[in-house]
Amino acid sequence: MSAVVTSPAFKANAKAALADTELQKALALVEVNFIVRRRAAADQLPEFEALRDEARDIKDHALAHLDLYLEEYEKRVVAHGGHVHFAVDAEEARRIVLDVCRRLGAKTVTKGKTMIGEEIGINSFLEANGVVPIETDLGEYLIQLRGELPSHIIAPAVHLTKAQVAADFRRCHADLPRDRDLTEPTTLAAEARTVLRQKFLAADVGITGANFLIAETGSSVIVTNEGNGDLTQTLPKAHIVLASIDKVVPTLEDLSQLLRVLARSATGQEASVYTTVSTGPRRADDPDGPNEYHVVILDNGRSNMLGGQFRDILRCIRCGACMNHCPVYSAVGGHAYGWVYPGPMGAVMTPALVGIDKTGHLPNASTFCGRCEEVCPVRIPLPKMLRHWREREFERRLSPATVRAGLRFWAFFARHPRLYGLATLVFARSLAWFGRRRGRFRFLPFARGWTRHRDFPAPMGSTFQAQWRSRRRSS
Ligand code: SF4
Repeated sequence: MSAVVTSPAFKANAKAALADTELQKALALVEVNFIVRRRAAADQLPEFEALRDEARDIKDHALAHLDLYLEEYEKRVVAHGGHVHFAVDAEEARRIVLDVCRRLGAKTVTKGKTMIGEEIGINSFLEANGVVPIETDLGEYLIQLRGELPSHIIAPAVHLTKAQVAADFRRCHADLPRDRDLTEPTTLAAEARTVLRQKFLAADVGITGANFLIAETGSSVIVTNEGNGDLTQTLPKAHIVLASIDKVVPTLEDLSQLLRVLARSATGQEASVYTTVSTGPRRADDPDGPNEYHVVILDNGRSNMLGGQFRDILRCIRCGACMNHCPVYSAVGGHAYGWVYPGPMGAVMTPALVGIDKTGHLPNASTFCGRCEEVCPVRIPLPKMLRHWREREFERRLSPATVRAGLRFWAFFARHPRLYGLATLVFARSLAWFGRRRGRFRFLPFARGWTRHRDFPAPMGSTFQAQWRSRRRSS
């Protein structure tokens, strides 16, 4: 019952995405809303690069001692009256959540944003078992109305335009006047707030994700800009936190360092509007809060990644910067990736969680431009790991025969540098000669995938190898 994987159809998904004019309009805003703001926020903080190093080291340290910090975390949660449930896989995690809901006789569950919830397909599971889940993050609410997966890890509805949202509200909020004005983002947000307020008050259980789990205090931390997470976790009888094992960090001091890079990398803010630290259920003198506090900590294959080539992706703090800066994501959006996690981090994470046999297109959907690694706040070497997935795909003979033949052909030349130099020289000169009149090709038989969408420039000047040699001679 986990989210359906459509990654094998990546090429078809991408083609449809490129032809979708509404999607292309929405994706055009990624540059303004994320890239420009992140750059400005980073430029204003002289120690930003040093903070990225610290953030990387904090996460590395936590992963190296994960067993100790998880034990410590559990001990603290229990001391505060909460419960920690370790779930090996999605099925176990879903079962734990349903048991809590059933015991409390829950009819409705409000939800803050949780990517682990998406990973384990909690909504459809609860629905199938008679419990109604209601998303309260605006973006998640929108995609729930449409029956879609998030297309971005921090902006789940980034693929939608204002007009599409207005149309969905008219369709789903059928009891409201037809002629109401839904042209402004503020009126759309106000309508969602009014509808959701009733749901907050009626919910029996609240489910949130966790950006971090703090071992020294037994706290879970969520970072939002809407405040919906606070209402989700304080109003119902029970608060269930869905997190994965890699979310634990040692101390509150570590948290403060990580928060400084998270908000800047994600939305270009110095700090997100709400950073909520929850520690256990309501105490006798608390004015509000849940009577029960449960944390479900999911493994789902992550512990297998700890000792291997993909360990570094567990440092991910889900800021979304890698996808915002990825030319492939910016062209096709998140749904083309075919599962919960899109963009470069998804292209590394999804094969690890779902299997490279079903997701081989994802690590290949990269130009290896390196922008993702350049902006990652915890310096995850994403291109290197994408390359490792390509190697695995090749070793397991999962890549198409044409690709394998092409790689063998290339490998032969790579092992014979003189021959490679000669072949590229002849090839580049021939292309330059044939393309001398127009300076570009509208059609090339061996590069039809390229020329179908854009012209191929004819080479100009000398080859890279020749320029390299002359530069070395003159230095
Ligand atoms: S991989 Fe890095 S840039 Fe991408 S979401 Fe994770 S922390 Fe952010």
